[in-house]
Parts: sequence; C-alpha cells; structure tokens
Amino acid sequence: MTINKQEVKLFEPYAVGNLVVYVTGPDRGSVIEADCRWELNTTLDSCDCCTFRWRSRRDPDFKCRHMLALRQVLGLD
Ligand SMILES: [Zn+2]
Repeated sequence: MTINKQEVKLFEPYAVGNLVVYVTGPDRGSVIEADCRWELNTTLDSCDCCTFRWRSRRDPDFKCRHMLALRQVLGLD
C-alpha cells in the first residue's frame, strides 16, 4: 500500500510519541496508548476517544492526538 509516496505497511506497529499506531486501512487505524493498552479505532475524521467525542461537538474540525498520530503515519502531515 502506498500513500503519498510513503510506504506504509498494514498491521505493523508505528510509534508516534507515546502512541502506537497500527494502520488497518487507507484512512483508518488502531491507536494504542503505550502506557495503558487502550485501543482506539481512529480514522482520518473520527476517533473513539472521549476527547474527540466531546471536542468535536463544538469544533467539527477538531483532531485529537490519535488522529494526528494516524495522519503522521500515513504521511499526511
Ligand atoms: Zn482520539
């Protein structure tokens, strides 16, 4: 799978800060907090975490750190 010139492998762990990102599709992934093993389903425009669910009500463009980590792994930022 090639996205934006960068080769990204599915289901390989990518460390971004204290997060671990597994890419599960061209626009989605599983993001795990390195210290608590909480697995979130994250896409380019949504995330399971409470921060996103709360903040996105007021700011439709809000991106939580899990979404930013996924974007970084996908080479979008
Ligand atoms: Zn999140």
